[in-house]
Amino acid sequence: MRLQCEVEVLSRLLPSCGLRGRGRAARALLSLGRPPGQRGVCLLVSTARDRPGARYQLRENIEQFFTRFVEEGKATVRLKEPAVDVCLSKANASNLKSFLSAVRLAHQGTNVETLPLSALVPAKASEVEKPKMKMIITSRKEYPLTKNFPYSLEHLQASYCKLARIDMRMLCLKKLRKLDLSHNHIKKLPATIGDLVCLQELHLQDNHLESFDIALCTSTLQNSLQFLDLSQNKMKALPVQFCQLKELIHLKLDDNELIRLPFKMGQLSQLRFLSAARNKLPFLPSDFRKLSLESLDLFGNPFEHPNPLVPDIQLKIPLTLLESAARATVNYRISYGHHLLPSHLCDDLDMSKACQCGRACLSSFIQTTVTMNLHHVAHTVVLVDNMGGTEAAVLCYFCSLTCYSQFLDKHLQSNR
Ligand SMILES: [Zn+2]
Repeated sequence: MRLQCEVEVLSRLLPSCGLRGRGRAARALLSLGRPPGQRGVCLLVSTARDRPGARYQLRENIEQFFTRFVEEGKATVRLKEPAVDVCLSKANASNLKSFLSAVRLAHQGTNVETLPLSALVPAKASEVEKPKMKMIITSRKEYPLTKNFPYSLEHLQASYCKLARIDMRMLCLKKLRKLDLSHNHIKKLPATIGDLVCLQELHLQDNHLESFDIALCTSTLQNSLQFLDLSQNKMKALPVQFCQLKELIHLKLDDNELIRLPFKMGQLSQLRFLSAARNKLPFLPSDFRKLSLESLDLFGNPFEHPNPLVPDIQLKIPLTLLESAARATVNYRISYGHHLLPSHLCDDLDMSKACQCGRACLSSFIQTTVTMNLHHVAHTVVLVDNMGGTEAAVLCYFCSLTCYSQFLDKHLQSNR
């Protein structure tokens, strides 16, 4: 009988300084067997450092079992001679349970004949090695076509493999924290990437992506994804729901065809590093002012020169009943949801705009762009053009003529 797990052997006799002789947990292979010419059953603990392994007699030699955390794959066997605690961890819980009951029988010396003993031979290197956590593939010929990826992977890179889509076998790797599929030919992302519940980093630069699926924005990635690189793709826009990826710290969107950034960009409150250089952005969303970044790169976008004297007027007076009701719902923070309102109304309310006066407007407003110095939202700003500018056009909305004319007065005064 054999068991693979991590083992730490602690001596109970070492110095009385309060710390017991602390070994270090190592991957190990445990075997139960009977050495030639002996009656009692032995426990053999082989590790990568000590593959022939240490042998411990079990017959009437166990002082205590500690099995409180056996369901978590942990247990300790306290031996009498030598005075050590054999601490087992990271074992498969059911294998551990059957192993421990065999150890108990070996200790009692009853029914020893029925125990599934194994030969006490040194472990093979592969049996005591750590499960593979990281795999880096950088060419098509290294790519595994028939063999599965090790289930234990936390970091997988498969670059320059000419992948046209994401391999479904990758989506079974539930421990993945970092997935790097840069420099491939991926056109579309499956919504099931959202099933990778630990995924913190997703590298997709230099692919053929044209869109980012809404289902990904509303998946468990919301709670885990911190780094996303979508640079060098063919994206024209990101969905509004993109801003629900609220754990994002690092976002790279350079070298796409983006004509706008997500409307509710300001909701990405954790975001610290943003780059969207060499896109087609004429202006930034009004929400952009809420960001608090360490570094921002918007180089090479065709930002327009704001002219607040020529606004886009979409104000309908008197306001429609729908507009009035919608404004009141947002202004008085009345909660709404799909259980209360038709979903298109919820979507409209989600897209409400904030006037400079702080009040909301929905589809009746005056819109213009103003100049914003990007240092207002970021410590380090890469120049937006070769002329040394750090200013960009940002959208702003006005809920009424009064609000717009107040703004205009201020604007004209400051430019006089
Ligand atoms: Zn207003």
